[in-house]
Amino acid sequence: MNDVLPDASPVWLHFEAVCREWLVAYGYKQIRTPIVEPTPLFVRGVGEHTDIVEKEMYSFEDSLNGEKLTLRPEGTAGCVRACIEHGLLYNQTQRLWYTGPMFRHERPQKGRYRQFHQLGVEAFGFATPDIDAEMIVMLADLWRRLGLTGMTLEINTLGDTAERAAHRAELIAYLEKHQDVLDADGKRRLYANPLRVLDTKNPAMQEMAENAPRLRDFLGEESRKHFDVVCALLDDAGIAYKLNPRLVRGLDYYNRTVFEWTTDQLGAQATVAAGGRYDGLVEQLGGKSVPGVGYAIGIERILLLLETQGVTVPEDVPDVYVVNQGETAARLAFGVAQSLRLAGFKTILHCGGGSFKSQFKRADACGARFAVTLGDDEAAKGLAAVKCLTGARMGEQIVLPLAEVAAFLRGF
Ligand code: ATP
Ligand code: MG
Repeated sequence: MNDVLPDASPVWLHFEAVCREWLVAYGYKQIRTPIVEPTPLFVRGVGEHTDIVEKEMYSFEDSLNGEKLTLRPEGTAGCVRACIEHGLLYNQTQRLWYTGPMFRHERPQKGRYRQFHQLGVEAFGFATPDIDAEMIVMLADLWRRLGLTGMTLEINTLGDTAERAAHRAELIAYLEKHQDVLDADGKRRLYANPLRVLDTKNPAMQEMAENAPRLRDFLGEESRKHFDVVCALLDDAGIAYKLNPRLVRGLDYYNRTVFEWTTDQLGAQATVAAGGRYDGLVEQLGGKSVPGVGYAIGIERILLLLETQGVTVPEDVPDVYVVNQGETAARLAFGVAQSLRLAGFKTILHCGGGSFKSQFKRADACGARFAVTLGDDEAAKGLAAVKCLTGARMGEQIVLPLAEVAAFLRGF
């Protein structure tokens, strides 16, 4: 779990600012849910036979009533829970987003942490493929807005329940024939979640997985058409994608469209955003049957990518540093600084006294465009010295009545 120190926070703020505008552009509204939820919500919502539920959750008992609780490992289950609880899914559609820390007990490495942050998007009440495509297209747009390049899109379709069941039967038969190459996870999931066996990173199982029966061959007319429309909309939007029949995603709840945006610039932690359609989830969590589509972005991985690609982030530098020396000057400077802030200037008041020289050093170091200086002599006459610290007019200085400083800075 990481601290984000002041030097690192500007890139977080930049990401969040870009995302806010971007989400508004697509009509998404924010939802904020608790970081702690009852454990059964994730067992039911994420799936019993997933990595998350099997080994990654931070779970504990409430010491007051013994209730089993978990630090959220992902945001979709909590979001669906809240929507059901507050009746947000009756005869209406929702386009929602959330962001915040998620917790998974994983082996920490670059791009993989035990507390990490996601920005997630969920849309409810949309059964048609346009929303699937919109989700993918809006991510391509985000990469553009952030200045990121070289992202790869992989997509697949998982079909519907009946199609998956038919495929599942053949897949189990196939896996039974290849028991000898299955690792411990594979053997354990053979009957519980055979599709997940194919999602293995184990090199020894790759060839077996490649040749396994493909879900694509079991798709019915409706599912195939749904996927074809998603692909056509992506083609129309000029977005390149790879069809990856082995993409099944780690979570149990997906159906039809699944997708991942990856990069080859982060080593093993290649997936930066992932999601898909989950039409059965709301009902599984106790609501009425409402279709859903969503994805989550791994924020740390995006920030690592921004750094790797040398994308510069706008710096938030102050406009004015207020230098002051002497009791009267200090008292006036306090008011001057506040009036400058109210006039719209980002202003740092030098607090704590010290020589003019040391104060000017700080003014330079913070990158402020102007120093406004009050000594006791000027202060007694109601004057301040304004000095330009940066740019072509660096070094220019003028002495002004205090009341005129803001207007002067505005016109400079
Ligand atoms: P991975 O295969 O990398 O473990 P996942 O399938 O478990 O990813 P999801 O549950 O789909 O990941 O979460 C969406 C995104 O959140 C991931 O694509 C990734 O960018 C990010 N993410 C997931 N786990 C972590 C983690 N432990 N640390 C940092 N980011 C993470
Ligand atoms: Mg994982």
